[in-house]
Amino acid sequence: MNGSYLIKPVLDADYPVISHGKGVFLFDKEGRDYLDASSGAVTANLGHGVQEIITAMAEQASKVSFVYRSQFTSEAAEKLAEKIAEMTKGRLEYSFFVNSGSEATETAMKIAIQHWQEKGRPTKHRIISRWMSYHGITIGALSMSGHVARRARFTPLLEDYPAIDAPYCYRCPFNSTYPSCGLACATQLETAIKRIGSEQIAAFIAEPVIGAAGAAIAPPEGYFEKIKAICDENDILFIADEVMTGFGRTGKILACDHYRAEPDIIAFGKGMSGGYTPIAAAVVSEKVIEPILNGSKSIMSGHTFSANPQSCAVSLAVLNYVDENRIAEKAEETGRYLSSLIKRLLTGFRFIGDFRGKGLLLGIEFVRRQDTKEHFPAAAGITSLIIETAAKNGLLLYPSAAGKEGIGGDAVIIAPPLTITKRECEELVRRLRKTLEEAETIIRASYLS
Ligand code: PMP
Repeated sequence: MNGSYLIKPVLDADYPVISHGKGVFLFDKEGRDYLDASSGAVTANLGHGVQEIITAMAEQASKVSFVYRSQFTSEAAEKLAEKIAEMTKGRLEYSFFVNSGSEATETAMKIAIQHWQEKGRPTKHRIISRWMSYHGITIGALSMSGHVARRARFTPLLEDYPAIDAPYCYRCPFNSTYPSCGLACATQLETAIKRIGSEQIAAFIAEPVIGAAGAAIAPPEGYFEKIKAICDENDILFIADEVMTGFGRTGKILACDHYRAEPDIIAFGKGMSGGYTPIAAAVVSEKVIEPILNGSKSIMSGHTFSANPQSCAVSLAVLNYVDENRIAEKAEETGRYLSSLIKRLLTGFRFIGDFRGKGLLLGIEFVRRQDTKEHFPAAAGITSLIIETAAKNGLLLYPSAAGKEGIGGDAVIIAPPLTITKRECEELVRRLRKTLEEAETIIRASYLS
Protein backbone atom coordinates (compact mmCIF):
# COMPACT_ATOMS: atom_id res chain seq x y z
CA MET A 1 0.00 0.00 0.00
CA ASN A 2 2.50 2.64 -1.17
CA GLY A 3 4.81 1.74 1.71
CA SER A 4 2.14 2.93 4.20
CA TYR A 5 0.64 0.99 7.11
CA LEU A 6 -2.16 3.54 7.51
CA ILE A 7 -5.62 2.36 6.44
CA LYS A 8 -6.83 5.27 4.31
CA PRO A 9 -10.30 5.80 2.79
CA VAL A 10 -8.96 4.43 -0.51
CA LEU A 11 -6.29 2.03 0.63
CA ASP A 12 -3.79 2.39 -2.18
CA ALA A 13 -4.42 6.07 -2.98
CA ASP A 14 -1.63 8.59 -2.91
CA TYR A 15 -2.92 11.31 -0.56
CA PRO A 16 -0.79 14.44 -0.26
CA VAL A 17 0.90 14.77 3.13
CA ILE A 18 -0.18 17.98 4.85
CA SER A 19 2.52 19.97 6.57
CA HIS A 20 0.51 22.82 8.09
CA GLY A 21 -2.55 25.04 7.85
CA LYS A 22 -3.15 28.77 8.20
CA GLY A 23 -6.58 30.37 8.03
CA VAL A 24 -8.50 28.94 5.05
CA PHE A 25 -5.36 27.43 3.49
CA LEU A 26 -3.67 24.05 3.91
CA PHE A 27 -0.11 23.43 2.71
CA ASP A 28 1.33 20.05 1.74
CA LYS A 29 4.90 18.88 2.10
CA GLU A 30 5.55 19.60 -1.57
CA GLY A 31 4.71 23.24 -0.88
CA ARG A 32 1.34 23.26 -2.70
CA ASP A 33 -1.47 25.31 -1.18
CA TYR A 34 -5.13 24.31 -1.01
CA LEU A 35 -7.95 26.74 -0.40
CA ASP A 36 -10.13 24.66 1.90
CA ALA A 37 -13.62 25.36 0.56
CA SER A 38 -14.90 22.25 2.35
CA SER A 39 -13.50 22.98 5.84
CA GLY A 40 -12.36 19.35 5.71
CA ALA A 41 -15.68 17.58 6.22
CA VAL A 42 -17.51 20.87 6.94
CA THR A 43 -15.64 20.92 10.24
CA ALA A 44 -12.79 23.46 10.34
CA ASN A 45 -15.22 26.34 10.83
CA LEU A 46 -12.62 28.78 12.17
CA GLY A 47 -9.85 27.77 9.80
CA HIS A 48 -6.43 26.72 10.96
CA GLY A 49 -3.97 28.09 13.48
CA VAL A 50 -6.25 30.26 15.66
CA GLN A 51 -3.99 31.31 18.52
CA GLU A 52 -6.67 31.58 21.24
CA ILE A 53 -7.58 27.93 20.70
CA ILE A 54 -3.98 26.74 20.62
CA THR A 55 -3.34 28.58 23.90
CA ALA A 56 -6.41 27.02 25.57
CA MET A 57 -5.26 23.60 24.36
CA ALA A 58 -1.78 24.02 25.85
CA GLU A 59 -3.11 25.46 29.12
CA GLN A 60 -5.48 22.54 29.68
CA ALA A 61 -2.80 20.01 28.72
CA SER A 62 -0.51 21.48 31.34
CA LYS A 63 -3.23 21.06 34.02
CA VAL A 64 -4.82 17.69 33.25
CA SER A 65 -5.86 16.06 29.97
CA PHE A 66 -7.96 13.14 31.11
CA VAL A 67 -10.18 12.25 34.02
CA TYR A 68 -12.87 9.60 33.87
CA ARG A 69 -16.38 10.99 33.83
CA SER A 70 -17.84 8.62 36.40
CA GLN A 71 -15.10 9.54 38.89
CA PHE A 72 -14.73 13.28 38.34
CA THR A 73 -16.20 16.26 36.62
CA SER A 74 -13.93 19.09 35.49
CA GLU A 75 -14.03 22.84 35.26
CA ALA A 76 -13.66 22.59 31.49
CA ALA A 77 -16.63 20.22 31.10
CA GLU A 78 -18.84 22.26 33.45
CA LYS A 79 -18.00 25.52 31.69
CA LEU A 80 -18.56 24.01 28.25
CA ALA A 81 -22.01 22.72 29.23
CA GLU A 82 -22.83 26.18 30.61
CA LYS A 83 -21.60 27.85 27.41
CA ILE A 84 -23.77 25.58 25.26
CA ALA A 85 -26.82 26.31 27.43
CA GLU A 86 -26.10 30.02 27.01
CA MET A 87 -25.68 29.75 23.23
CA THR A 88 -28.87 27.73 22.84
CA LYS A 89 -30.47 30.56 24.83
CA GLY A 90 -31.26 28.31 27.74
CA ARG A 91 -33.87 26.30 25.85
CA LEU A 92 -31.78 23.17 25.58
CA GLU A 93 -29.71 23.13 28.69
CA TYR A 94 -28.27 19.73 29.41
CA SER A 95 -25.24 18.42 27.53
CA PHE A 96 -23.95 14.88 27.28
CA PHE A 97 -20.49 14.88 25.69
CA VAL A 98 -19.24 12.27 23.25
CA ASN A 99 -16.52 12.15 20.61
CA SER A 100 -18.11 12.16 17.16
CA GLY A 101 -21.28 13.18 15.37
CA SER A 102 -22.29 9.52 15.02
CA GLU A 103 -22.07 9.06 18.78
CA ALA A 104 -24.04 12.28 19.29
CA THR A 105 -27.00 11.18 17.14
CA GLU A 106 -26.87 7.68 18.56
CA THR A 107 -26.85 9.10 22.10
CA ALA A 108 -29.79 11.35 21.14
CA MET A 109 -31.64 8.25 19.96
CA LYS A 110 -30.88 6.38 23.20
CA ILE A 111 -31.92 9.31 25.40
CA ALA A 112 -35.20 9.60 23.46
CA ILE A 113 -35.91 5.90 23.99
CA GLN A 114 -34.96 6.10 27.68
CA HIS A 115 -37.14 9.20 28.13
CA TRP A 116 -40.23 7.19 27.17
CA GLN A 117 -39.16 4.14 29.17
CA GLU A 118 -38.88 6.27 32.30
CA LYS A 119 -42.34 7.66 31.59
CA GLY A 120 -43.70 4.12 31.55
CA ARG A 121 -44.12 3.94 27.77
CA PRO A 122 -41.43 1.42 26.73
CA THR A 123 -43.03 0.55 23.40
CA LYS A 124 -42.03 3.97 22.08
CA HIS A 125 -38.65 2.85 20.75
CA ARG A 126 -38.55 3.40 17.01
CA ILE A 127 -37.09 6.48 15.30
CA ILE A 128 -38.52 7.95 12.12
CA SER A 129 -36.01 9.60 9.82
CA ARG A 130 -35.87 10.82 6.23
CA TRP A 131 -34.41 9.57 2.99
CA MET A 132 -31.53 11.77 1.81
CA SER A 133 -30.20 12.15 5.33
CA TYR A 134 -26.98 11.29 7.09
CA HIS A 135 -26.75 10.89 10.83
CA GLY A 136 -23.57 8.84 11.19
CA ILE A 137 -21.76 5.61 10.45
CA THR A 138 -22.26 3.55 13.65
CA ILE A 139 -25.02 0.96 13.30
CA GLY A 140 -27.64 2.89 15.30
CA ALA A 141 -26.89 6.18 13.55
CA LEU A 142 -26.79 4.46 10.16
CA SER A 143 -30.17 2.85 10.88
CA MET A 144 -31.56 6.38 11.14
CA SER A 145 -29.76 7.54 7.99
CA GLY A 146 -31.36 7.67 4.56
CA HIS A 147 -28.02 7.72 2.72
CA VAL A 148 -28.51 4.80 0.38
CA ALA A 149 -24.87 4.31 -0.63
CA ARG A 150 -23.57 4.36 2.95
CA ARG A 151 -26.29 1.94 4.16
CA ALA A 152 -25.96 -0.60 1.35
CA ARG A 153 -23.15 -2.78 2.71
CA PHE A 154 -24.71 -3.09 6.17
CA THR A 155 -28.42 -3.28 5.39
CA PRO A 156 -28.96 -6.68 7.11
CA LEU A 157 -27.55 -5.29 10.36
CA LEU A 158 -29.62 -2.12 10.45
CA GLU A 159 -32.73 -1.48 12.52
CA ASP A 160 -35.80 -1.36 10.32
CA TYR A 161 -36.61 2.28 11.08
CA PRO A 162 -39.20 3.94 8.87
CA ALA A 163 -38.19 6.90 6.73
CA ILE A 164 -40.16 9.61 4.98
CA ASP A 165 -39.23 11.64 1.90
CA ALA A 166 -36.95 14.65 2.12
CA PRO A 167 -38.13 18.20 1.35
CA TYR A 168 -36.15 18.19 -1.90
CA CYS A 169 -37.93 20.83 -3.97
CA TYR A 170 -35.56 20.68 -6.96
CA ARG A 171 -36.76 17.11 -7.57
CA CYS A 172 -39.94 17.03 -5.53
CA PRO A 173 -40.71 13.44 -4.48
CA PHE A 174 -44.39 14.26 -5.05
CA ASN A 175 -43.82 15.86 -8.48
CA SER A 176 -45.35 18.99 -7.08
CA THR A 177 -44.27 22.57 -6.49
CA TYR A 178 -44.23 24.77 -3.43
CA PRO A 179 -46.55 26.17 -2.09
CA SER A 180 -49.36 24.39 -3.96
CA CYS A 181 -47.87 21.07 -2.71
CA GLY A 182 -49.28 21.93 0.74
CA LEU A 183 -46.00 20.60 2.19
CA ALA A 184 -46.88 17.01 1.31
CA CYS A 185 -43.38 15.99 2.46
CA ALA A 186 -44.21 17.11 6.01
CA THR A 187 -47.72 15.60 5.93
CA GLN A 188 -46.06 12.28 5.09
CA LEU A 189 -44.78 12.18 8.69
CA GLU A 190 -48.38 12.18 9.93
CA THR A 191 -49.25 9.33 7.57
CA ALA A 192 -46.23 7.31 8.70
CA ILE A 193 -47.15 7.82 12.37
CA LYS A 194 -50.74 6.73 11.73
CA ARG A 195 -49.59 3.57 9.96
CA ILE A 196 -47.02 2.56 12.57
CA GLY A 197 -48.82 3.88 15.64
CA SER A 198 -47.41 6.66 17.79
CA GLU A 199 -47.04 4.18 20.68
CA GLN A 200 -44.17 2.64 18.69
CA ILE A 201 -42.31 5.86 17.97
CA ALA A 202 -39.87 7.66 20.26
CA ALA A 203 -38.58 10.41 17.99
CA PHE A 204 -38.24 11.94 14.57
CA ILE A 205 -34.74 12.99 13.48
CA ALA A 206 -33.79 15.47 10.76
CA GLU A 207 -30.98 17.76 9.66
CA PRO A 208 -32.23 21.38 9.55
CA VAL A 209 -30.29 21.75 6.29
CA ILE A 210 -29.42 18.47 4.57
CA GLY A 211 -25.67 17.98 4.22
CA ALA A 212 -23.79 14.92 2.99
CA ALA A 213 -26.85 13.18 1.53
CA GLY A 214 -28.17 16.11 -0.45
CA ALA A 215 -25.70 19.02 -0.70
CA ALA A 216 -27.16 21.88 1.34
CA ILE A 217 -30.90 21.38 0.92
CA ALA A 218 -32.92 23.77 3.08
CA PRO A 219 -36.64 22.99 3.41
CA PRO A 220 -39.38 25.25 2.09
CA GLU A 221 -40.96 27.74 4.47
CA GLY A 222 -43.28 26.21 7.04
CA TYR A 223 -41.84 22.71 6.73
CA PHE A 224 -40.28 22.35 10.18
CA GLU A 225 -43.15 24.21 11.84
CA LYS A 226 -45.51 21.58 10.44
CA ILE A 227 -43.15 18.72 11.37
CA LYS A 228 -42.88 19.97 14.94
CA ALA A 229 -46.66 20.33 15.29
CA ILE A 230 -47.12 16.74 14.09
CA CYS A 231 -44.46 15.53 16.56
CA ASP A 232 -46.14 17.37 19.45
CA GLU A 233 -49.63 16.10 18.58
CA ASN A 234 -48.31 12.55 18.65
CA ASP A 235 -45.97 12.65 21.67
CA ILE A 236 -42.90 12.22 19.51
CA LEU A 237 -39.61 13.96 20.33
CA PHE A 238 -37.98 16.06 17.63
CA ILE A 239 -34.22 15.49 17.32
CA ALA A 240 -32.40 18.13 15.28
CA ASP A 241 -29.13 16.82 13.89
CA GLU A 242 -27.00 19.98 13.91
CA VAL A 243 -23.72 18.07 13.61
CA MET A 244 -22.93 19.84 10.33
CA THR A 245 -24.97 23.01 10.83
CA GLY A 246 -24.43 23.87 14.50
CA PHE A 247 -22.53 26.94 15.79
CA GLY A 248 -22.79 29.32 12.89
CA ARG A 249 -22.44 27.38 9.66
CA THR A 250 -25.79 28.47 8.22
CA GLY A 251 -25.62 32.07 9.44
CA LYS A 252 -27.25 31.49 12.81
CA ILE A 253 -25.83 29.78 15.91
CA LEU A 254 -28.40 27.00 15.42
CA ALA A 255 -29.73 26.23 11.94
CA CYS A 256 -33.01 25.49 13.77
CA ASP A 257 -33.24 29.21 14.49
CA HIS A 258 -34.15 29.76 10.83
CA TYR A 259 -37.46 28.08 11.71
CA ARG A 260 -40.03 28.41 14.45
CA ALA A 261 -39.65 24.79 15.48
CA GLU A 262 -38.02 24.05 18.79
CA PRO A 263 -36.12 20.75 18.95
CA ASP A 264 -36.32 18.56 22.05
CA ILE A 265 -32.83 17.17 21.51
CA ILE A 266 -29.94 18.51 19.42
CA ALA A 267 -26.90 16.58 18.24
CA PHE A 268 -23.78 18.70 17.77
CA GLY A 269 -20.37 17.74 16.39
CA LYS A 270 -17.95 19.16 13.84
CA GLY A 271 -18.29 22.94 14.48
CA MET A 272 -18.28 22.37 18.23
CA SER A 273 -14.51 22.12 18.05
CA GLY A 274 -13.85 23.41 14.55
CA GLY A 275 -11.71 20.31 14.11
CA TYR A 276 -9.23 21.28 16.85
CA THR A 277 -10.21 18.17 18.83
CA PRO A 278 -12.74 15.33 18.55
CA ILE A 279 -15.83 16.23 20.58
CA ALA A 280 -19.59 16.15 20.06
CA ALA A 281 -22.70 16.36 22.20
CA ALA A 282 -26.32 15.39 22.64
CA VAL A 283 -28.05 18.38 24.22
CA VAL A 284 -31.52 17.98 25.70
CA SER A 285 -34.28 20.13 27.12
CA GLU A 286 -35.59 20.05 30.68
CA LYS A 287 -38.70 18.23 29.45
CA VAL A 288 -36.56 15.40 28.05
CA ILE A 289 -34.29 14.94 31.03
CA GLU A 290 -36.91 15.34 33.76
CA PRO A 291 -38.34 11.78 33.75
CA ILE A 292 -34.79 10.40 33.76
CA LEU A 293 -33.88 12.63 36.70
CA ASN A 294 -37.01 11.45 38.52
CA GLY A 295 -36.36 7.84 37.54
CA SER A 296 -33.11 5.93 37.13
CA LYS A 297 -31.05 9.17 37.34
CA SER A 298 -28.50 7.88 34.87
CA ILE A 299 -28.26 7.95 31.10
CA MET A 300 -27.37 4.56 29.75
CA SER A 301 -24.70 5.69 27.33
CA GLY A 302 -21.21 7.12 27.37
CA HIS A 303 -17.69 6.51 26.20
CA THR A 304 -14.29 6.44 27.86
CA PHE A 305 -13.38 9.82 26.41
CA SER A 306 -16.78 11.45 27.07
CA ALA A 307 -16.34 14.89 28.66
CA ASN A 308 -12.55 14.61 28.84
CA PRO A 309 -11.20 17.97 30.03
CA GLN A 310 -8.77 18.37 27.14
CA SER A 311 -11.48 18.27 24.45
CA CYS A 312 -13.90 20.28 26.59
CA ALA A 313 -11.37 23.09 27.07
CA VAL A 314 -10.68 23.25 23.34
CA SER A 315 -14.38 23.25 22.48
CA LEU A 316 -14.99 25.98 25.06
CA ALA A 317 -12.29 28.15 23.45
CA VAL A 318 -13.88 27.54 20.03
CA LEU A 319 -17.39 28.46 21.19
CA ASN A 320 -16.10 31.56 22.99
CA TYR A 321 -14.39 32.57 19.74
CA VAL A 322 -17.61 31.97 17.75
CA ASP A 323 -19.55 34.09 20.22
CA GLU A 324 -17.09 36.94 20.74
CA ASN A 325 -16.29 37.35 17.04
CA ARG A 326 -19.94 37.14 15.90
CA ILE A 327 -19.00 34.28 13.59
CA ALA A 328 -22.61 33.33 12.78
CA GLU A 329 -23.47 36.85 11.59
CA LYS A 330 -20.23 36.94 9.59
CA ALA A 331 -21.14 33.61 7.98
CA GLU A 332 -24.49 35.01 6.93
CA GLU A 333 -22.95 38.10 5.40
CA THR A 334 -20.06 36.31 3.70
CA GLY A 335 -22.43 33.56 2.59
CA ARG A 336 -24.52 36.15 0.78
CA TYR A 337 -21.43 37.55 -0.94
CA LEU A 338 -20.00 34.15 -1.92
CA SER A 339 -23.42 32.96 -3.16
CA SER A 340 -23.77 35.97 -5.41
CA LEU A 341 -20.31 35.36 -6.93
CA ILE A 342 -20.99 31.66 -7.47
CA LYS A 343 -24.45 32.30 -8.90
CA ARG A 344 -22.96 34.64 -11.48
CA LEU A 345 -20.23 32.13 -12.32
CA LEU A 346 -22.63 29.22 -12.77
CA THR A 347 -24.76 30.94 -15.42
CA GLY A 348 -21.89 30.25 -17.84
CA PHE A 349 -22.12 26.45 -17.51
CA ARG A 350 -24.64 24.06 -19.01
CA PHE A 351 -24.19 21.17 -16.59
CA ILE A 352 -25.41 22.97 -13.48
CA GLY A 353 -28.80 21.79 -12.21
CA ASP A 354 -29.24 23.62 -8.93
CA PHE A 355 -27.35 25.96 -6.63
CA ARG A 356 -28.66 26.26 -3.07
CA GLY A 357 -27.89 26.53 0.61
CA LYS A 358 -27.89 28.74 3.67
CA GLY A 359 -25.09 30.88 5.10
CA LEU A 360 -21.82 29.21 4.24
CA LEU A 361 -23.31 25.77 3.60
CA LEU A 362 -23.77 25.83 -0.17
CA GLY A 363 -24.39 23.08 -2.70
CA ILE A 364 -24.12 22.65 -6.45
CA GLU A 365 -25.99 19.81 -8.17
CA PHE A 366 -24.78 18.73 -11.61
CA VAL A 367 -27.04 17.49 -14.41
CA ARG A 368 -26.54 16.28 -17.94
CA ARG A 369 -29.48 18.36 -19.18
CA GLN A 370 -30.89 21.39 -17.42
CA ASP A 371 -34.38 21.14 -18.97
CA THR A 372 -35.01 17.49 -18.03
CA LYS A 373 -32.70 17.43 -14.97
CA GLU A 374 -31.26 14.21 -16.39
CA HIS A 375 -28.48 12.73 -14.30
CA PHE A 376 -25.09 11.85 -15.64
CA PRO A 377 -24.60 8.09 -15.74
CA ALA A 378 -22.98 6.89 -12.51
CA ALA A 379 -20.06 5.49 -14.52
CA ALA A 380 -19.15 9.01 -15.63
CA GLY A 381 -18.05 9.73 -12.05
CA ILE A 382 -18.81 13.44 -12.36
CA THR A 383 -18.56 14.24 -8.64
CA SER A 384 -15.15 12.59 -8.41
CA LEU A 385 -14.02 14.37 -11.57
CA ILE A 386 -15.00 17.76 -10.11
CA ILE A 387 -13.41 17.02 -6.72
CA GLU A 388 -10.16 15.80 -8.28
CA THR A 389 -9.95 18.63 -10.80
CA ALA A 390 -10.58 21.13 -8.02
CA ALA A 391 -7.83 19.60 -5.85
CA LYS A 392 -5.39 19.89 -8.77
CA ASN A 393 -6.35 23.57 -8.92
CA GLY A 394 -5.72 23.99 -5.20
CA LEU A 395 -9.38 23.98 -4.19
CA LEU A 396 -10.99 21.54 -1.75
CA LEU A 397 -14.69 20.70 -2.23
CA TYR A 398 -16.83 18.17 -0.35
CA PRO A 399 -18.54 15.40 -2.36
CA SER A 400 -22.22 14.84 -1.83
CA ALA A 401 -24.99 12.71 -3.25
CA ALA A 402 -28.16 14.24 -4.63
CA GLY A 403 -30.50 12.49 -6.99
CA LYS A 404 -33.94 11.11 -7.52
CA GLU A 405 -35.13 9.76 -4.16
CA GLY A 406 -31.61 10.22 -2.88
CA ILE A 407 -30.16 7.50 -5.05
CA GLY A 408 -27.08 8.52 -7.01
CA GLY A 409 -26.78 11.99 -8.48
CA ASP A 410 -23.80 14.33 -8.56
CA ALA A 411 -23.28 17.24 -6.22
CA VAL A 412 -20.64 19.05 -4.20
CA ILE A 413 -20.79 21.11 -1.03
CA ILE A 414 -18.96 24.42 -0.78
CA ALA A 415 -18.45 25.25 2.87
CA PRO A 416 -15.29 27.22 3.59
CA PRO A 417 -14.26 28.25 7.11
CA LEU A 418 -16.70 30.87 8.43
CA THR A 419 -13.76 33.22 8.86
CA ILE A 420 -13.10 33.43 5.12
CA THR A 421 -12.56 36.99 3.85
CA LYS A 422 -14.20 38.53 0.76
CA ARG A 423 -10.84 38.53 -1.03
CA GLU A 424 -10.49 34.80 -0.29
CA CYS A 425 -14.04 34.21 -1.58
CA GLU A 426 -12.97 35.79 -4.86
CA GLU A 427 -9.93 33.49 -5.01
CA LEU A 428 -12.21 30.51 -4.26
CA VAL A 429 -14.45 31.45 -7.19
CA ARG A 430 -11.45 31.95 -9.49
CA ARG A 431 -10.29 28.38 -8.70
CA LEU A 432 -13.85 27.08 -9.07
CA ARG A 433 -14.17 28.70 -12.51
CA LYS A 434 -10.98 27.00 -13.69
CA THR A 435 -12.22 23.68 -12.28
CA LEU A 436 -15.62 23.85 -13.97
CA GLU A 437 -14.07 24.93 -17.29
CA GLU A 438 -11.64 22.02 -17.23
CA ALA A 439 -14.35 19.53 -16.19
CA GLU A 440 -16.65 20.78 -18.94
CA THR A 441 -13.94 20.27 -21.54
CA ILE A 442 -13.46 16.68 -20.37
CA ILE A 443 -17.16 15.74 -20.33
CA ARG A 444 -18.39 17.80 -23.31
CA ALA A 445 -17.78 15.24 -26.05
CA SER A 446 -19.15 12.22 -24.20
CA TYR A 447 -22.04 13.64 -22.20
CA LEU A 448 -23.06 17.17 -23.13
CA SER A 449 -23.44 16.95 -26.92
N1 PMP B 1 -24.75 13.96 11.33
C1 PMP B 1 -24.49 14.80 10.33
C2 PMP B 1 -25.54 15.78 9.90
C3 PMP B 1 -23.26 14.77 9.68
O1 PMP B 1 -23.02 15.61 8.67
C4 PMP B 1 -22.28 13.84 10.11
C5 PMP B 1 -20.92 13.77 9.45
N2 PMP B 1 -20.86 14.08 8.12
C6 PMP B 1 -22.60 12.99 11.16
C7 PMP B 1 -23.84 13.08 11.77
C8 PMP B 1 -21.60 11.99 11.67
O2 PMP B 1 -20.55 12.64 12.30
P1 PMP B 1 -19.13 11.92 12.51
O3 PMP B 1 -18.53 11.72 11.15
O4 PMP B 1 -18.36 12.90 13.35
O5 PMP B 1 -19.38 10.65 13.20
